[in-house]
Amino acid sequence: MIALMSMPARIIRKLSIRGVLLPGLFRISRRPTAPVYLTFDDGPAPQTTPQVLKLLREYKAQATFFVCGQCVEKNSELTAEIIRNGHILANHTYSHPDLTRLTTSEALHEIERTQKLLAPFHSPRLFRPTRGLIGPRLWWALWCRDYRIAFWSQDCGDWEGRLETELAERLAQRVQPGDVIIFHDDQPNSVAILELFLATIRSRNFQFAALR
Ligand SMILES: [Zn+2]
Repeated sequence: MIALMSMPARIIRKLSIRGVLLPGLFRISRRPTAPVYLTFDDGPAPQTTPQVLKLLREYKAQATFFVCGQCVEKNSELTAEIIRNGHILANHTYSHPDLTRLTTSEALHEIERTQKLLAPFHSPRLFRPTRGLIGPRLWWALWCRDYRIAFWSQDCGDWEGRLETELAERLAQRVQPGDVIIFHDDQPNSVAILELFLATIRSRNFQFAALR
């Protein structure tokens, strides 16, 4: 059942990377003038998010933070700081469960609980499933509730355990206009990868925009 449910999501994610429009899906533009979208999942995290915010200020980059509700509750001042820096908060569940192991109503409870926490920040109804896995029933339920679903097209690899220099270099080689890059702002190495990556691509004059 789990394999059956997660299979369509993998296909859907591939389609989204190719710019195919599906109901409720955030569509990636591949125009040469399209911005690059930096996204940060699983925070806010007191040990790393402030450093991410500092780097984004230096590079005048706007970003989207896909936050977990339980981290928002623990770090309310830091959550407000993300907004004060001009970024967007989006929904990444309350407790970061594997959604393919929950019923649709359990998954919706996770998502709606976080959306309520984000309401004071005028957050869009923009959702990223944990591990990028979502079944068709939850997809449909979210679409009916006016959520859009955002995946990513480039992974910085901050979970891979490789050297930050290697990961930043690989990302710099791969990135193209319109790419949505996933970082995890609770991973200690994400700051170093972001810093090296931004320095490496500085001469390419990308615009950085927030998914919203
Ligand atoms: Zn996550």
